[in-house]
Amino acid sequence: MSERVIPLLDLRGGARSITLPPTLGHANGLLNDTRGRPLRDLRISVTDRCNFRCSYCMPKEVFDKDHVYLPQTALLSFEEITRLARLFLMHGVRKIRLTGGEPLLRKNLEVLIAQLAALRTVDGVAPDITLTTNGSLLQRKALALKEAGLQRVTVSLDGLDDRVFRSMNDVDFPVAQVLEGIAAARAAGLGPIKVNMVVKRGTNEHEIGPMARHFRGSGVVLRFIEYMDVGATNGWRMDEVLPSAEVVRRIQREFALVELEPSAPGETAERWGYADAAGRFDPAQGEIGVISSVTQAFCHDCNRARLSTEGHLYLCLFASQGHDLRSLLRAGADDATISAAIAAVWGARSDRYSELRGTLAEPGRTRVEMSYIGG
Ligand code: SAM
Ligand code: SF4
Ligand code: SF4
Repeated sequence: MSERVIPLLDLRGGARSITLPPTLGHANGLLNDTRGRPLRDLRISVTDRCNFRCSYCMPKEVFDKDHVYLPQTALLSFEEITRLARLFLMHGVRKIRLTGGEPLLRKNLEVLIAQLAALRTVDGVAPDITLTTNGSLLQRKALALKEAGLQRVTVSLDGLDDRVFRSMNDVDFPVAQVLEGIAAARAAGLGPIKVNMVVKRGTNEHEIGPMARHFRGSGVVLRFIEYMDVGATNGWRMDEVLPSAEVVRRIQREFALVELEPSAPGETAERWGYADAAGRFDPAQGEIGVISSVTQAFCHDCNRARLSTEGHLYLCLFASQGHDLRSLLRAGADDATISAAIAAVWGARSDRYSELRGTLAEPGRTRVEMSYIGG
C-alpha cells in the first residue's frame, strides 16, 4: 500500500516570543504547570540533520536534496545549550537527553557532554545524561562519549531482518553496523542500554519475536514504541498502529512475562519482566518495555520539556509552537530573566495532546516535526 505523505509545514522560526511576568519572582525553584506536573526531564535536540530517512520520521519524499536545514548560526552553540541547561536544572530538571535529528552528527558532541556533565541539579548531584541515537556512528564514538561523561544510550533499531531494516531507514543502512554500535556502547560502559523499536503494523510487526529473542538475557532493555502521529509528514494512519497490549500478548505466546513497577514517576514505558518457572521476575532474563503513546496516554504525569535545535522551548511532542529562548539569550538577557521566562512558560503549560487525541479539531492544526525537537 503506498504511503500518504503530507508536505512539510515549516514551523521553524515560528516560535512565540515569551511574555515575561511584571516582576521576576521565582527565578529559581521547582516548578509545576497548570496540571500540577513538575519539570524533571529536558530533551535537547542538537541537530535537525539525519543520515537516515525513516519513513515515520523524515520521509525521503519530503526531506530530499532540496530540503533546507537550519544554518549553523541558527543552532544553539554548546555554550548557549549549557547555559540554558544550567537554568533548567535550577528549576528541578534531573535528566538531560540529547537527541535530534541524529545527535552524533553534531560535531564535537563530546565537548557538549563534558560541559553538561559538570553541571549540578538542585540536589547538588550530576544530572543523568543520556542520548538517543540511530546507532550508525556509535561504534566510532562510544568511548569518547563515555569519557566525556555520558552515562547511557538508547539506540533505535526497528528490526533484525536486514531487508526490513534497510527499507525502514530508507538509506540502505545495514543492521550489522547498528549491532556493532550497541556492542561498542556496552564495551564502553554506556549502560544499561535501551533499544527502541517503533512498531508499524504491516511493516515490521513480524520482527517483534526475533527482537525479543535476540535481546532477552543480554542486559539490553528492548522497548516497543507505538507508531505515533508526530509531525505532519509521515502520513500517519491509526490502522498502522499496533497497540502495545498486542505486542505484549504476542511475546507472551513464547515467554512468560510479569508486570513490573515503573522505574520513576513520569516514566513513559510500562515494564514487563521475563518470568522464571515459578512465575517470578527473573533478572537474568531481563525486561522489556512498551510505550503506548497512542493507545494509553500518559500525559497526566508528563514532566518533559523539549529544547529545539534553534533554542525554542516546546512543552509537548505534539505542540504547534515553541517559545523562543534563543532570542532572549542573544539579546543579552541575564540569568534571572531567562530563568523567569522558563518559569513563566512552564507555569502556563496545559498540554495533554495524547489524552485529547481524537477529540481535537484537527483540520488546519500544525505540528512540529520530531526530527526538529527530538523524541
Ligand atoms: N535519530 C535518533 C534516533 O533515531 O534514535 C534520535 C532522534 S529520533 C526522532 C528519536 C526517537 O523517536 C527514535 O527512537 C525514533 O524511533 C522515534 N520516532 C521517530 N518518529 C516516530 C514516530 N512517528 N512514532 C514513534 N516513534 C518515533
Ligand atoms: Fe533520523 Fe532518528 Fe528520525 Fe530515523 S527516527 S529519521 S534516525 S531522526
Ligand atoms: Fe507529554 Fe504531550 Fe506526550 Fe502528553 S502528548 S505525554 S503532554 S509530550
